[in-house]
Amino acid sequence: MAKILDGKALSEKLKAQLAQEVKKLQDKSGITPGLAVVIVGEDPASQIYVRGKVRACEKVGIQSFHHALPAETSADLLKHLIEQLNQDPQVHGILVQLPLPGALKDLKVTELINPEKDVDGFHPISLGRLITGEKGFRSCTPFGMMKMLESIDYDLAGKEAVVLGRSNIVGKPMGMMLLEKNATVTYCHSKTKNLEEKIKAADVLVAAVGRPNFVPGDWIKQGAVVLDVGINRLADGKVVGDVDFEGASKRASYITPVPGGVGPMTITMLLWNTVEAAKNKE
Ligand code: NDP
Repeated sequence: MAKILDGKALSEKLKAQLAQEVKKLQDKSGITPGLAVVIVGEDPASQIYVRGKVRACEKVGIQSFHHALPAETSADLLKHLIEQLNQDPQVHGILVQLPLPGALKDLKVTELINPEKDVDGFHPISLGRLITGEKGFRSCTPFGMMKMLESIDYDLAGKEAVVLGRSNIVGKPMGMMLLEKNATVTYCHSKTKNLEEKIKAADVLVAAVGRPNFVPGDWIKQGAVVLDVGINRLADGKVVGDVDFEGASKRASYITPVPGGVGPMTITMLLWNTVEAAKNKE
């Protein structure tokens, strides 16, 4: 039976460490890390995410600056706000909650953020730094999964890692991070052939598809580590991942639950990146 990779517990541990680091930074350099969170429009899911991020900041002593703008906000106004935040010395990290509504959808908002404040790790410069192995902000969800692997001292060298999903915020950067740790990485997506065969060979499976129970339990290799990114709400309100948890638990050595696995780690790594951004100003 698989051991549970408890993202909630690991998050709490890391947040306690971050709170200490924030205190040290304040005592030593008088710097309080600051995160600006920008939300445009009234999308309920985005509002929940933003509230969670602001609350998490407060818990570790990061100052949060919440900017809620109406859905009809113009591109010029949003650009102006980001420029102001780029200049603001109290703001070490900037996060614009995506997706943006209406006409703003096509605005490449991430590229407006100063890469030194890109704590989401979505800026093309941050992604470029990941690919070239330079120091820089790593996208929070994959970064959180790497911390989970680190927490069990998992040695990725020579392991077969399969990343299911190739989004710019999860799949692609996750594959690069696994590669950086010497795994042999296979990316799978909607055009992949023989998916079953590929997943069955995975020592590490990252599932980021966004389809409930997409991976059957009997596709999991005996002893594999399963990292389930998916957050899928069923008709009865239950939230499940992309992998059949019960079936997979019988074969995997470690598995992340949904909820309580990868999700909590994502917010924690955002805080981590914000503290790093502030430390860079010491
Ligand atoms: P995207 O929708 O951007 O990407 C989904 C990926 O899955 C695409 O690459 C797509 O392939 C692939 N895919 C879709 N259908 C199939 C299929 N039938 N077979 C194989 N591959 C398929 O999603 P995200 O990466 O943004 O998110 C994935 C999931 O993770 C979602 O449930 C989301 O809610 C969740 N999530 C959770 C986070 C957390 O903190 N826990 C953070 C971010 C996301 P193609 O490219 O060919 O279309």
